[in-house]
Amino acid sequence: MRSRAAVLVEPGRPLEVREIEVQAPKAGEVLVRMAAGGVCHTDLHVMQGLFAAPRPAVLGHEGAGVVAEVGPGVTSVKPGDHVVPLWRIACGECEYCTGERPALCPSGLEVRRTGRLPDGTTRFSLNGEELKHFAGVSSFSEYSVIPEKGVLAIPKDIPLEKAALLGCAVITGFGAVAYAAKVRPGTTVAVIGAGGVGLNVIQAAALAGAERIIAVDLLEGKLTHARAFGATHAVRAEKGGDPVGAIRELTGGRGVDYAFDVVGLPATVRQAYLALAKRGVAVAIGIPENNAEVSVPIMSLVYDERVLTGSLYGSARPRLDIPRLIGLYRARKLKLDELLTRTWPLAEINEAYAALERGEVARSVVTF
Ligand SMILES: [Zn+2]
Ligand SMILES: [Zn+2]
Repeated sequence: MRSRAAVLVEPGRPLEVREIEVQAPKAGEVLVRMAAGGVCHTDLHVMQGLFAAPRPAVLGHEGAGVVAEVGPGVTSVKPGDHVVPLWRIACGECEYCTGERPALCPSGLEVRRTGRLPDGTTRFSLNGEELKHFAGVSSFSEYSVIPEKGVLAIPKDIPLEKAALLGCAVITGFGAVAYAAKVRPGTTVAVIGAGGVGLNVIQAAALAGAERIIAVDLLEGKLTHARAFGATHAVRAEKGGDPVGAIRELTGGRGVDYAFDVVGLPATVRQAYLALAKRGVAVAIGIPENNAEVSVPIMSLVYDERVLTGSLYGSARPRLDIPRLIGLYRARKLKLDELLTRTWPLAEINEAYAALERGEVARSVVTF
């Protein structure tokens, strides 16, 4: 079938909205009619060539839609079901899947690395030429074929444009707080980068009972969002500047118990670490450029017992945690309505990314 999709031909060029060909789902696959695709920084990094991905490709790794058709053997979803795609498929059987870290499953990494579905082929083409999938999701296409292991059915009363955000921004931020850092009540938290994921780190830390939450960003607009999501303090950073002194000052020189880097630069990961108190935990969440490295003083690792760790996909179990997040949304404890500040038609996807870069939106989605 034909489908309108945003295609990345090569990095450095704008996305091209084209009519592509989408094949029917094969065994273990699901055809999803996408309702919304999330405008996330990770795709931007791919477009800019900072983060490698096979191409030409249909990008988009956050979304929500309705199952249009299922391939042979699919049992967990049926046509008409509302679903959120998961950007790391999980086999369910390996040591990481059974050890509560499905995002680390090698099968998910393989799909991300090759741009192909688990059987080694793709379901997209343009003028007869193969197009790659992105993270097995490709939510910037009206119709996408996704492995059954990469979709999760959700209740039909959650608006799909908002549900889309659960699949990346929300679970990544909440999971990093709950599972990677394990934020305790009454503690202090710093969050470097107040974009879509950072805002969810902030609201999760507030729900976890953090006493002081310091948001750091270059853009005043993002700090305004941060306060609305629960930040008690805001530090306006400067490009190339160092917010560590300001963070430490806000904690009486002690440093914070938890610091999250949601930017992914060597400098910001190091700042998160340097802002820690003794026994503090710094969590790197932001997706780095290929081969980026960070250095920290070993003295403070040993004498302060500080921890520097990372978190992929919120270190979460999406099949358990997304339903829990929906419960929090229904209980009016999760700010999801406030997170979605703009929708764009697919044709304006490049403008959507320009607005993201300017920090004009908390989170936005393209719709079809
Ligand atoms: Zn994302
Ligand atoms: Zn696995």
